[in-house]
Amino acid sequence: MYYPQEILEEVRLRNDIVEVIKGYLPLKKKGSSYFGLCPFHNENTPSFSVSADKQLYYCFGCGAAGNVISFIMQMENCDFVEAVQKLADRAGITLPKADYSPETAKKEKLKTRLYELHSAAGLFFYQKLHSPEGLKALEYVNKRKISVPIQRKFGIGFAPNSRNELFEHLKEKGFTLEEILESGLVLENKSKNGYHDRFYNRLMFPIFDIQGRCIGFGGRIMESGEPKYLNSPETIIFNKKRNLYGLNLARAERKKEIIIVEGYMDMITIYQAGYRNVAASLGTAFTAEHALLLKKFVSDVILVFDSDSAGEKAALRAIPILTDAGLRVKVLQVPDGKDPDEYIKHNGSLEFGKLILNAVSYMDFQIKCARKKYSMDDSEQKMLFTREAAGLISNLSSPIERDMYIKKVSDDTGISKQAVEEEIFDTDKKRDIEFNREASKQKIRKYDTNNKQLLPNLNDAKGVLQAQNSIISICSTKKEICRRIMEILKPEELRDETRSKLLQYVYDCYLAGKDIVPADAVNLFDNEESQKITASVFSVKTDYDDTEEIEKAVNENIKLIKRANLDYIASNAKTIEEIQKALDMKKKLENFELQL
Ligand SMILES: [Zn+2]
Repeated sequence: MYYPQEILEEVRLRNDIVEVIKGYLPLKKKGSSYFGLCPFHNENTPSFSVSADKQLYYCFGCGAAGNVISFIMQMENCDFVEAVQKLADRAGITLPKADYSPETAKKEKLKTRLYELHSAAGLFFYQKLHSPEGLKALEYVNKRKISVPIQRKFGIGFAPNSRNELFEHLKEKGFTLEEILESGLVLENKSKNGYHDRFYNRLMFPIFDIQGRCIGFGGRIMESGEPKYLNSPETIIFNKKRNLYGLNLARAERKKEIIIVEGYMDMITIYQAGYRNVAASLGTAFTAEHALLLKKFVSDVILVFDSDSAGEKAALRAIPILTDAGLRVKVLQVPDGKDPDEYIKHNGSLEFGKLILNAVSYMDFQIKCARKKYSMDDSEQKMLFTREAAGLISNLSSPIERDMYIKKVSDDTGISKQAVEEEIFDTDKKRDIEFNREASKQKIRKYDTNNKQLLPNLNDAKGVLQAQNSIISICSTKKEICRRIMEILKPEELRDETRSKLLQYVYDCYLAGKDIVPADAVNLFDNEESQKITASVFSVKTDYDDTEEIEKAVNENIKLIKRANLDYIASNAKTIEEIQKALDMKKKLENFELQL
């Protein structure tokens, strides 16, 4: 861990979870808890609860859970150390230096320097745009009708037409050669006889992360030439898969939907037109990480891509990634082959608003794109189209939606509804077979590897993880039972790193006569997944009516845990004897009974 436990406790105690969360969303008191709309999934009735006495949050809808530090990590998209730092700042606590390994310490320092370097470079570009050298570029910006306040808000700048002006400037500002090269803004010459700036004679767009720090730049060429757009390379602070241009601003709008466009210019024009919930991808294909990032803030995505075939392809690629993340997707195609920027200039922002309202569902868009490839006059082609459309429709889970599209395709092709349905049924079946094959492959792989986890986390089919949660929870509330369980169940028998550490924590508290503080137990871990498990284990109530009921639950759960552990031992055994021993123990387990 990077900080001593006492410091983490202080940071946590001085940041009341209810107060901190109230800074992000409204909460209403209900009994001893507070409720609000969950920021991590889309909902209309509040299922996000915050407990003032436990200092934990827990969402009954999506299972998000944790303490005040986890909340900041999830909400601000930052790591454990950054979250602790933010909360310490908030409470006016001075943190000791994080106890990093020398390697991590070096990396953290470099990161800080790179943020500083990027803001210095941003300022440099901005000043250049407003100097005589930048006159032409500024004229261009004004011609594109980007207003002065917007220019300033986005920090638009200009990289002068020189080989190493930025390099010299950064050196002068005290950045080392190593730092400058790490930023990717300066490159070594091919002949290794010096260095040159990556960007020259380009209009510069600073790229900010979700916390508003400058992490890179995009540059648009001023005259003709290739590439038209050039981005900073990936660095330790700039990951294109995890950032979207303008998301820091869009997110502040707190709308449930977001408009996604392809380029900086489109993003800025749409923002300026008053639709401020807009972001752009950074010249890379849409990734699952982008989708999950969006999921934290919105439930609906409106894809706005150029209406040329490249734009269409990009939209078709992005759709399954977004829908897989559970986002609702619509597609807006700007008419007449225009891009959004041109459209708004010609028709005004009100007309663009109408386009947004009329965006079509992704399924309509996919089917329309498929249809373009086939001629409906040819029966062979008609059949191929129907098959492709059936494949698309089979991705829908709602029977009502399916029916609607089946009817559309049937009307369109003249093929009977029933035939289309059968085609979909076949696709479903094929997919099931494929899924089962893949699932069994994964299962085998899981047992093959020397993985500490007994079962894949997502697939707690036998309820072993659930049983472990329940045992930890019972031990944490009933001291007498904890003492008995401690005698017969070792933490390592849990075979799950997080849960076995938690059981150990509960035992330790018991032995030391200390109270269990769930919100501190969360701090045993610096990854979101373990924090979530911890918070949910302690949030879920285990109310049993009588001793008999507890006894039954404890016995069943312990047997389940022990059986799974023995299975694990048997399947990883190196000798026949080991297997035999595990099987014998498993047999004995049948007669096991703990009387409480
Ligand atoms: Zn939720």
